[in-house]
Amino acid sequence: MNTLRLLNVSKTYKNGVKALDNVSIEINSGMFGLLGPNGAGKSTLMRTIATLQQPDRGEIHLDDIDILNQKMDLRKVLGYLPQSFGVYPKLSAENLLHYFAELKGVANKADRKKIVDYALEVTNLYSVKNKYVAGYSGGMKQRFGIAQLLLNSPKLIIVDEPTAGLDPAERHRFLNVLREIGTNHIVILSTHIVDDVKELCTDMAILNGGKLLCHKKPADAVLDLNGKIWGQTIDREELENFETRFNLISSNYNQDNSLNIRVYGDVKPGEEFVQVQPDLSDVYFVHLKADETEAVNS
Ligand code: ADP
Repeated sequence: MNTLRLLNVSKTYKNGVKALDNVSIEINSGMFGLLGPNGAGKSTLMRTIATLQQPDRGEIHLDDIDILNQKMDLRKVLGYLPQSFGVYPKLSAENLLHYFAELKGVANKADRKKIVDYALEVTNLYSVKNKYVAGYSGGMKQRFGIAQLLLNSPKLIIVDEPTAGLDPAERHRFLNVLREIGTNHIVILSTHIVDDVKELCTDMAILNGGKLLCHKKPADAVLDLNGKIWGQTIDREELENFETRFNLISSNYNQDNSLNIRVYGDVKPGEEFVQVQPDLSDVYFVHLKADETEAVNS
């Protein structure tokens, strides 16, 4: 069992943007989802944990490694897949992985073959191992990114917005690969897609404006909203009116241009509302809405 601990981590960029605001959290082995809208600070947090940038304040520990002061020790046990992975040389996936494994210090040829074969198997790339990575589809490149980060048997794996831009079939395959590796490491998946977290993660937190809003198991966070989400179908012209009268958290168009709205509240907000089953999207929107309302009022 590994544990990552962050204590009061803050970062303000030179332009005055407060990207991380006193973030404290404990993350254990398993799949952890960091959910937040664009600009929430997810990449800043991922890069900071990966030792690629320094926070202004705070401490980060992986078990007994003091990450901010022992960068090389962390890098030996880290697998990091950044948002974009750069340009690939004209080499087959297998040859490129052998090359990376050598760079990562796997000197023995037999050991290298073992770990490269394992990485190709887990990521479902074995049958296309002789193809150039440069010619891979977006989804295959993302899986190759996972293959390369597995080469040093990392304890901590960080993947930053990996499913953005993947088509549904590729996204599904990619999530399955993460599921496969998520059991014996800490895997942190940053995403703005609620379904990524719903399908995969055993633990999660929501980040907005650099602040952590909710750290819970997804199932528990949904349970918390039982009996508090109310739905109604309205005409699109009524939306503004409903927005001002109720604590509206989301609205979705139907084909006939009517809208299904969802409202958060302890009691039934009005005659026409019916109680609906909460889901993880409701958790996400309830927390974002509460945070934005607080920001406006403070
Ligand atoms: P996310 O990954 O959730 O989209 P980021 O960590 O990329 O969020 O960005 C958080 C905030 O910090 C945004 O407002 C972004 O514009 C700003 N930001 C990110 N990187 C820099 C930088 N190098 N210099 C200045 N501002 C930055």
